[in-house]
Amino acid sequence: MPSSQNKKLLLNDQQSSRRRFIKLASIGFALSSASSFGINLAPTNRKLGIALLGLGNYSLRLLAPALQSTQHCELRGIVTGTPAKVESWQQQYSIADKNVYSYDNMHELANNPDIDVVYVVVPTALHLKYAEMAANAGKHVWCEKPMAMTAAQCQRMIDVCKKNKVQLSIGYRTQHEPNTRQMHQFAVRQKYGRVTSIFARAGYGGNGLPADNWRMKKHMGGGAMYDMGVYPLNGSRFLSNMNPIAITAQHEKSHPQIFKEVDETTNFTLEFPNGVTADCAASVVKSYNKIKVECEEGWYQLDPMSEYSGVAGNTSDGVVLTAIKGMQQTLQMDNDALAILKQGPLLVPGEEGMRDIHVVEAAFKSASLGTRITL
Ligand code: NDP
Repeated sequence: MPSSQNKKLLLNDQQSSRRRFIKLASIGFALSSASSFGINLAPTNRKLGIALLGLGNYSLRLLAPALQSTQHCELRGIVTGTPAKVESWQQQYSIADKNVYSYDNMHELANNPDIDVVYVVVPTALHLKYAEMAANAGKHVWCEKPMAMTAAQCQRMIDVCKKNKVQLSIGYRTQHEPNTRQMHQFAVRQKYGRVTSIFARAGYGGNGLPADNWRMKKHMGGGAMYDMGVYPLNGSRFLSNMNPIAITAQHEKSHPQIFKEVDETTNFTLEFPNGVTADCAASVVKSYNKIKVECEEGWYQLDPMSEYSGVAGNTSDGVVLTAIKGMQQTLQMDNDALAILKQGPLLVPGEEGMRDIHVVEAAFKSASLGTRITL
């Protein structure tokens, strides 16, 4: 238990945290995560040119809009396999003809100084292929989550980026979200004592997608564990500041006629050192989104944990972390751009994405063998 002096310090810390977050919420999000969390925000005039590769839902609805508010990078190019999408993207975002590519000619990016970064936003099974092409063209790579299908693929992605001396960053927007970062600091500083257990869920309700959608295909990286599992998994790791040592997983099926190839819900228990466990679940048929971290001297939670907006938290001693204004993706891309412009720090490098994919692979193995897998 903390001494009365320590309690006073904790209280001061909590109050200043709270004040900082009220201030953050009121000034908006533009400078928030970076300046408040030790990220290098010294001014730089140069803006990096971003090319979005794969113009599906996430690029269209989240990333391109978020790039309209970034300070250190801007949308300058597109790489797409669908010519019919080009005109509207060019018109809406004033993208020059010379910055429009297909997957077949994207190696020509090597000769285009307008583009500094290729952001890979295609189905998971294709992340490695296009990350390799971008890195070999000399461009920095931002790659969406989940990083790849296997840890071996992740390692190849890391290696090719190293070989080409370009940065690799994984699109874990939540690690850039200020309330999530604050709770990570609770774990780092053991503000509520040592973590004792975790409860984490991420899922969206529904009845599946058409059978030809990549999210329904196993070989494309569809299913609950790849799509949503990385949120409770990464959240448990990030908010406990620990890495799991074992996993036990089971798939749960309520729509066997629809989910013939991929998992619709996966329940998994992560075991951390000192007997700490995380009770986790990911689903594409159940709607839930929350993480709660129990500690020896209290608890902290995010509810919701990984929605695009509204991520908010509170703690056992009454600290309230209100949702930021603006988009997490804006913070993410500005932080990642600064890491390139200033050569660090990089919040979510390839190694971080790979750690999760190692666990995801073990989850599938555990569910199929019905056994606990040591990591
Ligand atoms: P969509 O299905 O909406 O779009 C994927 C796009 O990839 C397509 O529109 C297409 O773009 C391109 N593509 C290239 N090859 C193929 C192929 N063989 N089959 C299907 N599409 C192909 O997916 P999302 O945008 O929702 O997801 C893309 C990635 O982003 C995934 O890795 C996903 O996990 C991640 N994601 C991350 C989120 C986050 O919060 N961080 C949220 C949502 C998704 P084009 O026609 O331009 O070639």
